[in-house]
Amino acid sequence: EAPRQVDFTAIVADIVDLNTGPAERRSISVVRELPDEPTWVLGAAHELEHIVANLVSNAVKYTPDGGHVVVTLETLDQEIVLTCADDGIGISAADQAHVFEDFYRSADPAATHRSGTGLGLAIVQRVVDRHGGSIELESTLGSGSTFRVRLRAA
Ligand code: ATP
Ligand code: MG
Repeated sequence: EAPRQVDFTAIVADIVDLNTGPAERRSISVVRELPDEPTWVLGAAHELEHIVANLVSNAVKYTPDGGHVVVTLETLDQEIVLTCADDGIGISAADQAHVFEDFYRSADPAATHRSGTGLGLAIVQRVVDRHGGSIELESTLGSGSTFRVRLRAA
C-alpha cells in the first residue's frame, strides 16, 4: 500500500469506539480527547489503525474493572502526539526495557493471567518506525501506564 494522506483523527475515533463496548462491560471508561479537525498523516491506514488498536486494547486489558483509559490526539507545531493513558496494573522498570520486543510479556503475575502473544507492541514499534515516528512509555507498577506516539504531520 503506497503512503497517502490519512486522517488520523478519524482512525483514532473509530478504533476507540470499537474498544468502548468491551471496556464498558468491565466498567472501564474510555475517554477520547480528539481535535475537531482532521489530522493528516502520510502513511498506510491499516498500519496506523494497528497503533491505536494495540495501545487501546492493551490499556483496557491491563486495567482492572472500574478503571480509566484516556486517549488524546493533538498536534503541536508539526508534530502529532497520540497519548494512551491508563490507571491499570503498570509495568516495572525492568519490564519497560523489553515490552517492545517480539513475544515479550511481563513477568508480573497481574499481566500473565491475561492472555496474549507479546507481539502487539512489537508491531506498534515497527509501524511507528516505518512512519518516521517515535514511541515512549512512562509507567509505575501498580498505578498505570502512559504510551506516547509522535508522528510528523503530513
Ligand atoms: P498481544 O498484544 O500480542 O495479544 P500482549 O498484550 O501480551 O499480547 P504486547 O501488547 O506486546 O503483548 O505487550 C507486551 C507486554 O507489555 C504485555 O504482556 C504486558 O505485560 C505489558 N503491557 C503492555 N501494555 C500494557 C499496559 N497498558 N499496562 C500494563 N502492562 C502492559
Ligand atoms: Mg497487547
